[in-house]
Amino acid sequence: MRIDLHTHSTYSDGTDTPAELIAAATPVLDVVALTDHDTVDGWQEAAAALPLGLTLVPGAEISCGWGGRSVHLLAYLFDPTHAEFAEERRLLATDRVRRARAMVAKLQELGVPVTWDRVAEAAVDGTIGRPHVGAALVALGVVPDLQSAFTPEWIDRGGRAYVEKYVLDPRDAVRLVRRAGGVPVLAHPLGRGGGSTVDHTGFIEGLAGAGLAGLEVDHPDHDEPGRLRLREMAAALGLFVTGSSDYHGSNKRTALAVCTTERTAYEAIVDQATGSRPIER
Ligand code: AMP
Ligand code: ZN
Ligand code: FE
Ligand code: FE
Repeated sequence: MRIDLHTHSTYSDGTDTPAELIAAATPVLDVVALTDHDTVDGWQEAAAALPLGLTLVPGAEISCGWGGRSVHLLAYLFDPTHAEFAEERRLLATDRVRRARAMVAKLQELGVPVTWDRVAEAAVDGTIGRPHVGAALVALGVVPDLQSAFTPEWIDRGGRAYVEKYVLDPRDAVRLVRRAGGVPVLAHPLGRGGGSTVDHTGFIEGLAGAGLAGLEVDHPDHDEPGRLRLREMAAALGLFVTGSSDYHGSNKRTALAVCTTERTAYEAIVDQATGSRPIER
């Protein structure tokens, strides 16, 4: 069984529509989770596109912050109508618009002829994020590719045109996901390139105490020593481990199914969830 539990569509910063994502997943996966940033708006379109034999796990990747660092929390099979969680997603999505507008204003101050309409258009109906701002910089020829926009010169954290966005305390987010009947899994705990300055043991212990269910261990950004450390930590804390591609279409180079989740971990997610069920045709 091939299970990939972390992907993005055009409802956030992926480049495939949910239907295109499902079509891309069909030949390579048995189970795929749609986990757009701070939104559930792609679920319906993904569900409608399901072929026989592919199961959809509805989810989201929730923006959190801890000690000035960005933390992403994957949430699976929660109740999308849970009022408190729905309100938090609305706040996160709304503040992303404020923040993207502020980033465009900073770029204009830096002399870049970028317009808000152009950036907003790229986000279509999804939550807006830095990749949309970066894509505008690529289109204008300011940078050669998206990767080059994520630098201190432009929109990397702390960069000249960077603006902070509203984020949740990850422990509060874990509890909120549980209240909404969902299953919280810490996304890519080692972040980009596997490097980190955070004391992960204490941090992850705190999340486990709040109700965290699992750690995303097998992720394209994690190196082998990092994965080993995370696996030991998960075992010690009674967390399951997942693996996923964090597919973003052509916005990142990782293909679907480059990392996958064991069936037992997937079954644990389904067992723990009370908010919604995996979707099959
Ligand atoms: P935001 O949530 O708007 O701050 O944007 C962060 C998102 O940008 C991440 O979730 C990634 O999908 C994407 N991202 C971050 N760093 C890079 C990078 N170096 N190249 C391409 N995409 C990136
Ligand atoms: Zn993303
Ligand atoms: Fe992420
Ligand atoms: Fe992601």
